[in-house]
Amino acid sequence: MNERVNRWLDDHREEMTELLKSWVRIPSLRSDPEPGAPFGRENRRMLDRAIADLRGMGYPVRDFDGYACDAAMGPEGEQIAVLGHLDVVPAGDGWETPPFEPVLRGSRLYGRGTNDDKGPVVAAIFAMNAIREAGIPLRRGIRLILGCDEESEWEDMAYYMAHTDMPEMGFSPDAAFPLINTEKAMVVLELRGKAEPEGLRVIRMNGGTRVNVIPAECRAVVAGGPETAEKVRRLSREWQLPYEARVTEEGVEITARGIGGHSAYPEGKRNAIGMMLVMFRALGATGGLKQLAEAVGTESDGASLGCACRDGVSGPLTCNLGILRLEEDGSWFATLDFRCPVTADLKAIQAAARARLSGWEAATAAEKPGHHVPAEGELVSDLLGAYREATGLAGEPMATGGGTYAKIMKQGVAFGAMFPDEEELAHQPNEFQDLDRLILAAKIYAEALIRLCGQEDGGRELTFTEEENR
Ligand SMILES: [Zn+2]
Repeated sequence: MNERVNRWLDDHREEMTELLKSWVRIPSLRSDPEPGAPFGRENRRMLDRAIADLRGMGYPVRDFDGYACDAAMGPEGEQIAVLGHLDVVPAGDGWETPPFEPVLRGSRLYGRGTNDDKGPVVAAIFAMNAIREAGIPLRRGIRLILGCDEESEWEDMAYYMAHTDMPEMGFSPDAAFPLINTEKAMVVLELRGKAEPEGLRVIRMNGGTRVNVIPAECRAVVAGGPETAEKVRRLSREWQLPYEARVTEEGVEITARGIGGHSAYPEGKRNAIGMMLVMFRALGATGGLKQLAEAVGTESDGASLGCACRDGVSGPLTCNLGILRLEEDGSWFATLDFRCPVTADLKAIQAAARARLSGWEAATAAEKPGHHVPAEGELVSDLLGAYREATGLAGEPMATGGGTYAKIMKQGVAFGAMFPDEEELAHQPNEFQDLDRLILAAKIYAEALIRLCGQEDGGRELTFTEEENR
């Protein structure tokens, strides 16, 4: 690895930290559009901040009307893209620190977006800075592209690609090391159903915040009194699952406590809406609710829904019930987020789910194809080479259910910034970024970009001296 680059990064830890903190303070959620701010005011404020910071570092920056920005370095012509995002998902419940006020504990910086994706973006920017400061000549350019709608509709990248070219090759620092070259396909179904006149009467429920988030907590008010509350408590003990029940003026307020996370990574999680449905069923729910409880419940593999499948490069299908709410008109609304193996038949999966959920009207809200970049090419071997050299670890390409911007490029992969021994924190309460690891990620990004874009001889000769090489 390039010692001068690494030393520069070590020397700039403080600046990196401060930049990340200032970005985390901006709650760049998607909200109602305003003129010049297609994803809302705070989202636009974040983009402005990033543009100002990048210009301050000396990069030419283009603003794509509030949808995205890009910053280039090195020769024009062929460029390697680095694609990250500035938007974040809502904080959700369960935070021990204020989600939009970064708090440093040891080497961990806590806050929404520290890890997904502001931290990794900052690491990539500092990797570019380090390459420039080390004077490494480039044979290919580097183009940093920052979008503002990754967590929702990807309208940012649609707009970007409608207004400029997209490099063929690149990586997205928005997932995990070693490297992800296979991304599952995604299908989102929106379900609409009528309230049943029979059985359990639900008075109020607004479960979940996002399609792609496994809800950590779900609350509902159902008709009933002390007996119903006692039954909930008894079942909670029997099932050894955390529910609470309390009698209110309206009825019985039930709380289900699950284990939240990103919909693509259901392992070890527990869907609180699913828990609530299972409880509803036990309390006598009929019709669509009962059907949803039986076909999905707390399952994440689509088995009872008739959708379970897997393939060699992708692994298994996953399914998440992200939202279930009782609308004001008394109807129900729910979402199912499927991440499907790249070889799966998406139409067949939807048909199976529709057949099993006959009490619901199911509309396809999103359908994104899978993505696979062969492991043998230049991109994967350069990136993995950088990772292996920096960490001393063997690293093999992986598959994910998380959709990242990588699939927007013909040859795009996701690369970092989570390390294999770190737990998945994206979209969870108490999200943090370990700053030691972030520096290491920046070193890996720099090395990867040098391998992909640096001049074969120039860079290394310029920066390697006897002393530095020790
Ligand atoms: Zn992300």
